[in-house]
Amino acid sequence: MSQETFDLVVIGAGPGGYVAAIRAAQLGLKTACVEKDPTLGGTCLNVGCIPSKALLESSERYAVTRDHLAEHGIKVGGVELDLGAMLRRKDKIVTQLTSGIAGLFKKRKVTSARGLGRIAAPGLVEVTHAGATQSLQARRILIATGSVPASLPGVPLDGDRIGTSTEALSYPTVPEHLIVIGAGVIGLELGSVWARLGARVTVLEYMPALLPMMDPDVTKVAAKVFAKQKLDIRLGVKVTGAVRRGDLVDVQYVGADGQPQTLTGDRVLVAVGRKPNTTGLGAAEVGVQLDRRGFIQVNEHFETAVPGIFAIGDVIPGPMLAHKAEEEGIAAVEHMAGQPGHVNYDAIPNIIYTHPEIASVGKTEPELQQAGVPFRKGTFPFLANGRAKALGETDGLVKILAHAETDRVLGVHIIGPRAGDLIAEAALAIEFSASAEDIARSVHAHPTLAEVVKEAALDAGGRVIHL
Ligand code: FAD
Ligand code: NAD
Repeated sequence: MSQETFDLVVIGAGPGGYVAAIRAAQLGLKTACVEKDPTLGGTCLNVGCIPSKALLESSERYAVTRDHLAEHGIKVGGVELDLGAMLRRKDKIVTQLTSGIAGLFKKRKVTSARGLGRIAAPGLVEVTHAGATQSLQARRILIATGSVPASLPGVPLDGDRIGTSTEALSYPTVPEHLIVIGAGVIGLELGSVWARLGARVTVLEYMPALLPMMDPDVTKVAAKVFAKQKLDIRLGVKVTGAVRRGDLVDVQYVGADGQPQTLTGDRVLVAVGRKPNTTGLGAAEVGVQLDRRGFIQVNEHFETAVPGIFAIGDVIPGPMLAHKAEEEGIAAVEHMAGQPGHVNYDAIPNIIYTHPEIASVGKTEPELQQAGVPFRKGTFPFLANGRAKALGETDGLVKILAHAETDRVLGVHIIGPRAGDLIAEAALAIEFSASAEDIARSVHAHPTLAEVVKEAALDAGGRVIHL
């Protein structure tokens, strides 16, 4: 058993952990990062953000080539899907990015330790791999062990016909009928992928409304768009069980009308959320406090109840987003290095990469109403934007909510082409405490989609031009 002392041992090499390790090394801390899986990058790079976006991009190109080039005056025939090539492209991107992290660790002199990390005591991490255990002495420990898919009682995951997003990123053939349980981010993104590739897709959602955390003006458009794309989303249903029958699965549920129903598909994707991952970590045993849902409790500096043990990312409360995990990791280690590490939770963008994309930052209209904050709003549709017309993508709108007295931007909500890129301007506006007038007076190049953001800001001030 070898022993080494580190200023910081990070457990988990997802976007939270690996970014924190790099920043810590940059700040002069002798750092190790422990990862149980063979590749670095965590959920996001291996089975999350990156592979899903690769498939979203490829499937969208396939759908556009098949269905939408004619309107641009381009004739194509014999469009065929090569699913194997599409999946190999996705895998190649994942390999390039995960091995890139190994390269970054080398460059920054972060020690990469392969194995399951267990906190044996404050200041001591045991790393076990292939039957061998090494001990890492740590002045501080940062838990970044992320999350794993939640399961549903009565719906036994079999890693094949009934699976999670991990299986849905690699189905070897296009399902005939994919039944998705949960119309959240994963359900909509991966449901879109397989629908574009030719599957019939039915989405069963427990809540009576679609995407309740998004602004209602956005979800109204989203519901129409998804219906056009033939995503059959059934709201207000209660899934009671799933039974495999050879290559088929019968999913039983109680519909919104209270009637029991059975739906048969050849693949079931369970996408009902994710839960914090502390399996085998030994955190609770050394005194780290978990809440009743299993999230690690931390203070404003990401320190747990045990001095010297910190936690960030999906394993602590808050939105389960890669960029949230990264920012927390950076803030945590900057604080450890004596700097004022801080995360502005009001300025974290949230993007759903459907087509069109849905993106938001800051407060929604119901949230402001509930908090009694006086606001005015401005909206502008992509339909009235020249670039959107040239692209042939005119569904959607931008909505800006600004304080009624100070004009400070409080929330921006977008559904439309490249919403995920457009939201960056809004996040910056909120971070800089900009007013809607600041956005409206900033010069936006013409013709661009960003002009829709500017026009929405003009509308908030009652002086929209192109409508
Ligand atoms: P993780 O990425 O989960 O990493 C935790 C790491 O810790 C893992 O590598 C795990 O193996 C390791 N680990 C756990 N326990 C131990 C242990 N005891 N010892 C050693 N290692 C351990 N977010 C976005 O922002 N944008 C997206 O587009 C997006 N798309 C997604 C798509 C899908 C299909 C999924 C599933 C998720 C997506 N997410 C997205 C969410 C995003 O992946 C997570 O929010 C993010 O990965 C959280 O980062 P993390 O570092 O906290 O944890
Ligand atoms: P989610 O929380 O986004 O959605 C889960 C959905 O399942 C909800 O709509 C919920 O009401 C529904 N649900 C829960 N129990 C149900 C039941 N018994 N029957 C039917 N529906 C039920 O979770 P997810 O889609 O699994 O994604 C997990 C996490 O990963 C999310 O927190 C998300 O932030 C993250 N993620 C982010 C992105 C992105 O940023 N683009 C992409 C994918 C995943």
